[in-house]
Amino acid sequence: MLGLIFDIRSFSVHDGPGIRQTVFLKGCPLRCAWCHNPESQKNETETIRKNKKIGNKVFSSVEKVGKWMGVDEVMKIVKKDIPFYEESGGGVTLSGGEPMMQGEFAGSLLNACKNENIHTTIDTCGYAEPQVLESILPFTDLFLYDLKIADEQKHTQYTGVGNQLILSNLKIISKNNKPIIIRIPLIPDITDNIANLEALRNIIESTPGIIRIDLLPYHSSAYNKYERMGRIPVYSVSENYDSQKAAEIKDFFNNSAPFISIGG
Ligand code: SF4
Repeated sequence: MLGLIFDIRSFSVHDGPGIRQTVFLKGCPLRCAWCHNPESQKNETETIRKNKKIGNKVFSSVEKVGKWMGVDEVMKIVKKDIPFYEESGGGVTLSGGEPMMQGEFAGSLLNACKNENIHTTIDTCGYAEPQVLESILPFTDLFLYDLKIADEQKHTQYTGVGNQLILSNLKIISKNNKPIIIRIPLIPDITDNIANLEALRNIIESTPGIIRIDLLPYHSSAYNKYERMGRIPVYSVSENYDSQKAAEIKDFFNNSAPFISIGG
């Protein structure tokens, strides 16, 4: 079985505990207006222009994004870092895109990791068929789970899909006693208004098993990627997120989980 992968990153420290290998699966059912990884969205290979500056000259080349790989091929890479996972309490994280969009491949890869005693994490937007989620649950030790917008209509407006499936899948994970880290992107005027934050806080506080909240402030670095892919971002502001405001939001969530972080 093959999976479409657009990156494998060693020594990741922001995608779960310890030192991790993060495998990025290509394809996402959402189209978040602020998405930082536009190259992750389509579940097909595509191209991106790469610029390299040498002296005063800029050289452009076209690079393919996405490679079909087998579970064994990925495991060969993953297994090289087992000593680092053991030393640091790390492991493997599947990210994307949305890993559950390639549910069978994701399940097989997670299963192969568990057979090697490797800690597994999945970084998910939560939008997947419940059957797919249930099939990967036994092989997943930790969920990094995005919560973006509580209002159904606004969620549809800014991500392209409603949030009912996401909220009901969160309950399934919680009922199965899996630890959850909630990730909230802080997008000016979209996710960071008080009504939305209060509603997200209510969801978090009524969901058992949430061990931490990561607040992910907007940063403007993705614009360049869109441009190199010949696309225009739906949402783009030139400034990075106000750090004072992020700190205030961290205080706002202070009693909602054992640990709150800014930036993951
Ligand atoms: S869920 Fe993540 S990868 Fe998918 S469109 Fe939204 S920000 Fe991008």
